[in-house]
Amino acid sequence: MHPKVTRAAVLREFRAPLDVVDVPLPAELPPGSAVVRITKTTLCGTDAHLWQGVLPFVALPIVLGHEMAGEVVALGPGAERDAEGRPVSVGSRVVWSESVCGLCHACTVLREPVLCTDRGYGFSQRADVSPYVVGGLSEYAYLPPGAHRIVLADDMPDHWAASAGCAVKTVLRAYANAGGVEPGSTVAVQGAGPLGLIATAVARACGAGQVITLGGPGNRLALARGFGADSTIDVTDVTDPDERVAQVEELTGARGADLVLDFAGAPTANREGVLMCGKRGTHVVVGLAGPDAARVPMDVVISREIRVVGSLNGDVGDLSRALRFLSAFADRFDWDAMFSAPVGLSGAEQAIRDMASMAAVKAVVDPGLD
Ligand SMILES: [Zn+2]
Ligand SMILES: [Zn+2]
Repeated sequence: MHPKVTRAAVLREFRAPLDVVDVPLPAELPPGSAVVRITKTTLCGTDAHLWQGVLPFVALPIVLGHEMAGEVVALGPGAERDAEGRPVSVGSRVVWSESVCGLCHACTVLREPVLCTDRGYGFSQRADVSPYVVGGLSEYAYLPPGAHRIVLADDMPDHWAASAGCAVKTVLRAYANAGGVEPGSTVAVQGAGPLGLIATAVARACGAGQVITLGGPGNRLALARGFGADSTIDVTDVTDPDERVAQVEELTGARGADLVLDFAGAPTANREGVLMCGKRGTHVVVGLAGPDAARVPMDVVISREIRVVGSLNGDVGDLSRALRFLSAFADRFDWDAMFSAPVGLSGAEQAIRDMASMAAVKAVVDPGLD
């Protein structure tokens, strides 16, 4: 028997306080589904954007939070294995990926479920329509049948695992889509939020010869240096995009970077990203530049033979590698330096505001706290 209601922080109005109330959970569990008790939710910049109402496709009310880890409290029929074939039972600690249909062209022919036409993003689940709660700002949540889950190793902290669910897997997919890091090459990372910081660590761990991280404010750039950046450029000081390009050129001995990854999502980021690329460089676009995006100089793309690669968040394969990456480099990088102290659901709204104001790098919510 699983709980039929859960306490959850519901977003009813953009930029308004979250309403901590009881929300129903599905009474019956269809094949492949599960219910988990959320152990930790980590917040993402997208949660702040959703709360602010700047993403136009969201119908309220919803339960925010799409990076979370949980403990299984009930399983539907046929849900006894994780994505790697290991047993799942009541009490298993798990993370999971957005649900996918397994039937569409992307799922089957392309075998790229990240491009599934029916991908179950949490922000598309209204809290007043069954199955009500798939988001992380809740004591319990429903896992739809197509949400591939992974059982966590005993020594994997819940908050690290939660962050793998969006931030870390997104970074690993971006590198995979770029074709990896050539050992000894120059990598420039645009953005010093959680994705930029993790991307900095990945570049270093993968053998980059030079790592340059652009972002701000200063405390985030200090973290970036701890995560392996040789040089940082503070975009709050260097506000002219062309000056930032010039600084990267100088740092790379006028050759430009081999790989420039955009996690900043700023209007000028992709113009800068292309201009920071050297000959035969690659620019990976993850951030959303928005409607006022600066023109990308396609003449430079041609004359330097630059590859421009788009990358979405990540599927269960990226999630699996994200967990192993965090674990493998736990002694090398101080992952905990990114995370705030956990707060309960009553503190979730402030935690979202802290993400929006950049006061927090990665806010943590433990719905079991008051
Ligand atoms: Zn996210
Ligand atoms: Zn599909």
